[in-house]
Amino acid sequence: MPGFLPYGRQTIDDDDIAAVAEALRSDYLTTGPRVDAFEAAFAERVGAKHAVACSNGTAALHMATIALGVGPGDVCIVPAITFLATANCVRFQGGDVIFADVDPLTGLMTQATLAEALDQAGGAVRAVLPVHLAGRQCDMPAIKMLADEAGAAVVEDACHALGSVADFGQAGDCAYSAMAGFSFHPVKTIATGEGGMVTTNDAELAAKLRLARSHGMVREGMSEPWAYEQRMLGYNYRLPDLNCALGLSQLHKLDAFVERRRMLASRYDELLRPMNAVSVITTEGRPGFHLYVALIDFEAAGVSRAEVMARLAEQGVGSQVHYIPVQTQPYYRDRYGDQHLPGAAAWYERCLSLPLYPGMADDDPGRVVEALSKALS
Ligand SMILES: *Cc1c(COP(=O)(O)O)cnc(C)c1O
Repeated sequence: MPGFLPYGRQTIDDDDIAAVAEALRSDYLTTGPRVDAFEAAFAERVGAKHAVACSNGTAALHMATIALGVGPGDVCIVPAITFLATANCVRFQGGDVIFADVDPLTGLMTQATLAEALDQAGGAVRAVLPVHLAGRQCDMPAIKMLADEAGAAVVEDACHALGSVADFGQAGDCAYSAMAGFSFHPVKTIATGEGGMVTTNDAELAAKLRLARSHGMVREGMSEPWAYEQRMLGYNYRLPDLNCALGLSQLHKLDAFVERRRMLASRYDELLRPMNAVSVITTEGRPGFHLYVALIDFEAAGVSRAEVMARLAEQGVGSQVHYIPVQTQPYYRDRYGDQHLPGAAAWYERCLSLPLYPGMADDDPGRVVEALSKALS
């Protein structure tokens, strides 16, 4: 019996372990030279001027809303299909969220759904936070143009998109945004345990991100050797040297990880395309494929998603749903009332994430698709 295939997992080799062991033997467990090295390598890799490491992807997005100065009364637009953190980072600062609908065939915020949300806002919008779901990049030139017209900043939630390339650029290069946030949770493209990063091309924003990461505190340039000065309200969102050692080692393998994800995803595309009730998502550009999502018409197949997931699990295949529309969560419903977003509802009804990670064997997509066709019949 072959092993269980989770929907995602990290790929850790001996050289990753050696890099962490070396950090453990060094003088630094928290902030040390590996933080700077990881940030510099990351900025270089995604093509941004600055990168600020932090404790997780949620902290990355929160630091971005702090750096923008989002506060009570500010409205920000977030797509309905995302992880909770994209909306929560606005609420952390006391801002309010307007949920944009998504394209039912990609799960992405589009020019049209953003235009609708801007209309709904009616007045000033502080920021727009597009999410590159599954590693597919939103149409950033179009989103940036609408955001500019509305006087809103753009913050990319690029947690799914490390290594994604589109014709207009690479996720995290911030060519069409003020900042981009990443996560290094074990299911993401590279892993540091917990971990995150914000990239930006704006030195002033980078300085604010660093303040937000460490208590709003500055030590440099003080007249007394013990002195530090708190200039704003900040947090402890630092990423330890240990985790940065792992991040740096993982980053060296990013190209290989993404290549492998693309190969496995195209294998899934081939195998799933002929299946009844299953749609393969059209792919533009070169996504990093954090997830492989199939769209399944469970009604046509005559079996519920819960049943399909249970039948897959019995055959050793993990699956997951990304995501429940955020505006339907009790916290947001209590605050904003019921809101039906048809694109998000259609996506949610049909999406199913299948196992995808670099450590999968060449014939694992075949095994998954065979299990899926059994589960659907
Ligand atoms: C993973 C993820 C986050 C949060 O990252 P953490 O590191 O888990 O805090 C935010 N947004 C999206 C889209 C994610 O997938």
